[in-house]
Amino acid sequence: MNQRNNHKTKGLDFDAVVVGAGFGGLYAVHKLRNELGLNVRAYDNGSDVGGTWYWNRYPGALSDTESFLYRLSFDKELLEEGDWKHNYLTQPEILAYLNTVADRFDLRRSYQFNTKVTAAYFNEETNYWEVTTDKGETVTAKFLVTGLGLLSATNVPNFKGRETFKGEQYHTARWPGSGVDLKGKRVGVIGTGSTGVQVIIAIAPEVEHLTVFQRTPQYSVPIGLRVQSDAEKAEIKANYEEIWKQAKSSAVAFGFEESTVSAVEVSKEEQERIFEEAWNTGGGFRFMFGTFNDIATNPEANEAAANFIRKKIQEIVKDPETARKLMPTGLYAKRPLCDNGYYNTFNRDNVSLVDVKENPIVELTPKGVRTTDGEYELDVLIYATGFDAVDGNYTKIDMRGRGGVTVRDKWADGPTGYLGMTNTDFPNLFMILGPNGPFTNLPPSIETQVEWIADTVKYMVENDIATIEPTQEAEDEWITTCRIISDQTLFSKGESWIFGANIPGKKNTVMFYLGGLGNYRKALEEAGYKGFIFDRTMANVE
Ligand code: FAD
Ligand code: NAP
Repeated sequence: MNQRNNHKTKGLDFDAVVVGAGFGGLYAVHKLRNELGLNVRAYDNGSDVGGTWYWNRYPGALSDTESFLYRLSFDKELLEEGDWKHNYLTQPEILAYLNTVADRFDLRRSYQFNTKVTAAYFNEETNYWEVTTDKGETVTAKFLVTGLGLLSATNVPNFKGRETFKGEQYHTARWPGSGVDLKGKRVGVIGTGSTGVQVIIAIAPEVEHLTVFQRTPQYSVPIGLRVQSDAEKAEIKANYEEIWKQAKSSAVAFGFEESTVSAVEVSKEEQERIFEEAWNTGGGFRFMFGTFNDIATNPEANEAAANFIRKKIQEIVKDPETARKLMPTGLYAKRPLCDNGYYNTFNRDNVSLVDVKENPIVELTPKGVRTTDGEYELDVLIYATGFDAVDGNYTKIDMRGRGGVTVRDKWADGPTGYLGMTNTDFPNLFMILGPNGPFTNLPPSIETQVEWIADTVKYMVENDIATIEPTQEAEDEWITTCRIISDQTLFSKGESWIFGANIPGKKNTVMFYLGGLGNYRKALEEAGYKGFIFDRTMANVE
């Protein structure tokens, strides 16, 4: 392949267009350009690399994957040189890391930043993608690789009177790089998901008053943030090979051994002991998947875990009315949260909680937020209201496949993807973290997919193949597999972005393969190219 350096397909501007400069896009540019020698153009609408970590600069932004595993594993030296302070990474640390990746592999020169891809048409006569940007440029490429991010398109609820509010308004994922001065201000936060929890803890000590508008109470466990010693880091690095092997063959890839013990088969005392131990160790995924093997599948086990967390809330929160409002009911079946003192923050005198399920938000006024029980005056309003997950950035692009079919129409009943990366009617489109992909600590899933994509592109180039496209049968079968697995879990019953339930009007569908990364990797291996149609007729390579 190397002798094909600077290979360029005849009549084309680029061999591949890559969209996105997060973990996914960056690694794709490296594989396609540096390893396969393809001519690559990449775009991101941010002004630099980082993706999620470029946009989410809100106070308190932190990974909930441990530092040693929230990174790419493909380059031994990069791993060896990696450094971090705590067992979780702050947003500036992750952004700095992704900048290091970009520098090390000289990735920036392929990017055109501050550029949004607005349209992508597959031309059936040439078999090329025609990619248009908001700068008015259209380029052609054989392959379109999208790393658009699955938690990237922001969800800003369209409250009545939003434009009338005289204070400042920010979505957490569009936080200004220069920061926001919140000192001494009356601040409101709408949303108590992973983001809301982090921002609430971080800003409470600095603001004059913080009003938290909570719609659904959350189950959250301690994150267990601590400094990691040089000796610990050295040991991790010495064992990296084993660590990555374990993560990539596990379910959630969070770097701990997932439990094989059922919660309902041990005594109440043993349950309590295991939960307490996990509570003290920290980590949301560890609490859900490292304690027992049936928290996410068996209602009785799930209730045991939920009940343990409720008891902790009762113990931590001093004001009984606030504790009542914070108390989650029902299933513990969303992406598990962890925090560095969330419930305790509500013991502060300058923090108050408004239950907007009991008293819904009616409108924004020039002075603040009006709910059915009154008006809350604010200087700053923060939307920690999450994302139009998975397909949100796809449906924003005028993306058209065979016969002019649009992605919006194709996915009207919910997004679909064969093996989480490809779609019928959209030949030569490779989606990183596309619909029906794995639900895990994401960098190892991203690596798995980018490596599969690069292998496939290599195979196509070497064999003069014009197009690849999954068969409808293969795609349907994969979606059925995803649904069967999802139905075995309680996640499908917990309303969240994982199923598209957080966006008003969005169809609730199975958007993930919940079978785990190890099984996903096996499925990729077993599938080979069986479910794909390769077309050689338009082979057009110099
Ligand atoms: P992203 O990093 O989202 O990058 C996508 C890029 O594509 C963005 O820069 C976007 O601007 C660009 N883009 C999209 N559409 C267009 C377009 N039309 N034109 C041009 N550019 C476009 N996951 C974990 O596993 N562990 C964690 O601890 C964790 N913490 C998180 C914390 C926060 C606050 C958030 C929001 C997410 C977190 N995630 C976490 C999920 C995180 O998104 C992934 O881990 C990972 O960063 C995704 O990388 P990506 O490259 O796929 O997408
Ligand atoms: P989220 O989990 O979707 O939470 C959004 C919050 O906003 C919820 O509390 C939701 O309430 C509320 N909300 C939405 N619309 C509302 C409305 N109209 N009125 C009132 N409240 C409204 O989003 P997120 O917190 O940004 O997290 C998304 C994902 O990003 C996480 O699950 C995780 O994968 C990732 N993330 C990870 C970390 C980390 O720990 N490393 C940090 C941040 C994000 P309801 O619950 O009632 O819908």
